[in-house]
Formats: sequence, C-alpha cells, structure tokens
Amino acid sequence: MAFPTHAKYVVIGAGIHGLSSAWHLAENLRRSGKGSGKDIVVLDKTGIAAGASGIACGVVRNNYFQPAMRRLMAHSVSVWESDPTAFSYHPVGYMQISPEVMHADVASIHRQQREIGYDSVFIEGEADCLKYMRGIFDDWQAKGITSVLHEKKGGYANNTASIYGLAKKAENEDVRLLTGVKVTGFKKDNKGAVTTVVTDKGDIACEQVIVGAGPWVKQIWDMLELPKDIAIKGRDGKLHEGVPMWTFWCLEEGTLGVDPKLQRTNDGQMPPVIHVDTDAPLHSDVDGSLIADKLWGIYYKPDFHFGGVQGGAMPYKVTTPPEQVKLDPYGPESPDFIVGDDFAHMWVSALAFCQKRFHGTIGKYKKEPSGGIGSFTADSFPVFDRFCQNVYVIADSNHGYKMIGVGKLVADDIAGNASDLLQPFRFSRFIEGRLHPVSHSPFPWS
Ligand SMILES: Cc1cc2nc3c(=O)[nH]c(=O)nc-3n(C[C@H](O)[C@H](O)[C@H](O)COP(=O)(O)OP(=O)(O)OC[C@H]3O[C@@H](n4cnc5c(N)ncnc54)[C@H](O)[C@@H]3O)c2cc1C
Repeated sequence: MAFPTHAKYVVIGAGIHGLSSAWHLAENLRRSGKGSGKDIVVLDKTGIAAGASGIACGVVRNNYFQPAMRRLMAHSVSVWESDPTAFSYHPVGYMQISPEVMHADVASIHRQQREIGYDSVFIEGEADCLKYMRGIFDDWQAKGITSVLHEKKGGYANNTASIYGLAKKAENEDVRLLTGVKVTGFKKDNKGAVTTVVTDKGDIACEQVIVGAGPWVKQIWDMLELPKDIAIKGRDGKLHEGVPMWTFWCLEEGTLGVDPKLQRTNDGQMPPVIHVDTDAPLHSDVDGSLIADKLWGIYYKPDFHFGGVQGGAMPYKVTTPPEQVKLDPYGPESPDFIVGDDFAHMWVSALAFCQKRFHGTIGKYKKEPSGGIGSFTADSFPVFDRFCQNVYVIADSNHGYKMIGVGKLVADDIAGNASDLLQPFRFSRFIEGRLHPVSHSPFPWS
C-alpha cells in the first residue's frame, strides 16, 4: 500500500495511548456514521510497543493520593476488565503496605475509594497488619508497617501482549498502523493549526493530530514550538516562572529468576501485586550491611511473562539537562538507563525483608538489562489537552500503562463529548494553580 499523503486523523505513537485512542476514535466514527478507522493512521518510528508501554512492569492500581487520579484509574480499570484476554490482564488485586508516615494519606485514599465504589479493604495498626499479611503469606515479616490497603480490583497486565491486543482492536476497525515512520516536524496554517505532519517518509496532510509519544513527548512538544519553561502558581499563591516543562526519571526494575509459583498465597492462589513502603532500616540479605535508613519502597509480583518475580524500587531523577538526555536507544538497549548491581542488591534484600522465602536468592537475580526512562511533566501528573488548535497531547507523566481508558476519553473529547475526568489534567492548571495534592510516598507518581 502506498504511503498516505492525507489522513483525517494522524496518531503519533503505537503505545498504550496512541493505540487506545485510535481504536476508540475508530469505534466512535463507525458508530456515529461519520467515518471509520480508514480515516486514521498511527505512525511509529520503531514499532508497536517499542516505547515505555512495551517494557512497563504492567501494574494496574487505583491507589493514588490525588482524587482526580483515582477517578481516572477507576475508569481505566473498567476498560482493562472489558476484555482481559485480549489485554493479557490479570485481575489479582493490589496491596499498598505502608508505614505510619503514610497512614493518614492512605486512610483518605480508602475513604474516597469507598465513595467511588472501588472495592478495597483497609487494615490499621501494626499487629492487625501483620495478622492480615500472614493470612495471605505465612512468611510475611516486613517491619514498620501500620496500614495495609488491599484493592480487590486491578492487578497487572503483560506489557507487549496487551499492546498487541490493542493494535489488533484498532486494526479490526480498519485503522492503518505504519511502523518505521518518524515524525520530524509539523506545518501549520496562519492561525497556528497543524495542516501537515512531516515524516522521514513523506508529508501527511491532516485535520487532527493525537500525540502519544511517551518518553519522546518533549521532542514532539518542541516541534510544535510549545514552551520549554512554564509559569506555575504554587501552593504559596505566588507565580513561579521558568519551571522546566519536562524532566526525566529513570525507573529501576528487574526480575528474580525463580519459578513464579514460588510467590503463591497460603491457599495456592496467584497473589495480589505487592507494594511496600517503609521507614524501617533495610539491611543487605547478603552481608547484613545497612542499605537504607530513610523511607524506601519496592513493588513486586510473580510474572510468567518476565519469567520470575518481577518488580522495582524507587526511581531516581535524571540530572542531565532535559535537552541533552539521550532517549535512544530506548529501554534495555540504552547504555545509560538500565539497572546495575546496586539495584539488584537493594531490591532482592528488600524482597527478603518482606518475605522469608526470598532469603538467599540474590544469585537467582536475572542479570539482563532492564528498567527505562520516563518523561515527567512539571508537577509529575498527566497533561491531556489540545494545543495548536488541533493537536491533542497525551502526556501521562509516566503513570500511563495502567491508563488504557484515557484513549477512550480523548476520542470522546475529540467527538465533542469532553469528560469531567479529563478536566483536572488540563495544561491551564499550572498557571491557575489548580495543582494536585502531594502525598508522603517516596515515589513521584503516587
Ligand atoms: C520501566 C518502566 C516501568 C513502568 N511500569 C509501569 C507500570 O507498572 N504501570 C503503569 O501504569 N505505568 C508504568 N510505566 C509508565 C508507562 O509505561 C508509560 O507511562 C506509558 O507506557 C506511556 O505510554 P505512551 O503510549 O504514551 O508511550 P510509549 O509506550 O512510550 O509509546 C510511544 C511511541 O511513540 C513512538 N515515537 C516517539 N517519537 C516518535 C516520532 N517522532 N515519530 C513516530 N513515532 C514516535 C515510539 O517509538 C513509541 O513506540 C513504566 C515505565 C517504565 C519506563
């Protein structure tokens, strides 16, 4: 088939957001009789699932301190649940296991989950938490825990499999996916709207662009000539000028190469995803040396797709100026943003801190490159908004694999049915000071 010179809708990026948007847009067009998936092309410079969506741990949870994030995640969970087989989704649930410093935050999350009808159980007090956890894993031994939030919904999905599932849904609606096509610029009319997407294979005239470029969003942002620095009205009521719009964090993840069945519950079931934060000291499972004596956190799950117990720890901020950060080659191929021995030592020691069954397993850690870089907005929360009149940018600030439902909301918004769920994520929140509340979690995305 010839390279298209025109498409009504051009979607940039074949990850979770680009493909979910394309699929839902095509459905809307067909149902409304206003067109079909044939009006849509998805462009990806590499391939389907070549970005963050293809390497994500795949955790799907509701546990967010920010009410707007929780409502958005509840919506996304309903999309995951709509076709678990196609999305390779495992609804095993999710547990946030926390120290006293996070108790009040997590209690408020539980209260608000009840308000929106999101099924969860909240356990408080050190003794009751230990009892609850031992009822699930008889070798549970984590210290410094005074609350447990057990979300009965959510869980995880297998990264590449779910993105291929989405691609199939889009293709079944006649959406055209073009891989190996890199967007290099835009042409605009005299009012500033994009008329043409410029690629390394040729120009595509279009009416609407959707950007789902994940960690590469800054490159597209710059091509659209959007501001590198922004002004934010802070919680102090003052205007803070010159805040960089984009920063990068490196996510540290890895896999313990044990039989995934090692991490079963007492009654032999696949367990919920476990996320533990604590301020109890963490000592090495190898030599007893002190690894951490301030708030730290890890998450993990048994995962047949990764071939072991997979998970991660707190990310670190990339200090290189955003302009100079090398995004390519991405993921495991990156020479800069993959985990090293320090991560393995910390994470496996932390697994053993939580559950005795992981004691002495450091030798089983898979020494393969893993982890990856993510792009964060100025406040580390998503921006979903229109720019240059006809460009819809989906910048999820690295919360996004779980947000399979955002594409549906964006497709509805483009059709003229804006959802309230998107309003707290508009770009104007920065200048207007409508910022999301910040929690005590050691993670930038909670
Ligand atoms: C190691 C790691 C673990 C993570 N774990 C989780 C998790 O457990 N749960 C969770 O919710 N989130 C997780 N995230 C975050 C999540 O993966 C991302 O927020 C999400 O996948 C972003 O999706 P996307 O569709 O916007 O981008 P991507 O999946 O990155 O897709 C963007 C696509 O755009 C293409 N592209 C870029 N530039 C161009 C261009 N100029 N022209 C054409 N194509 C282009 C790329 O090739 C890529 O395929 C994790 C992130 C990382 C790095």
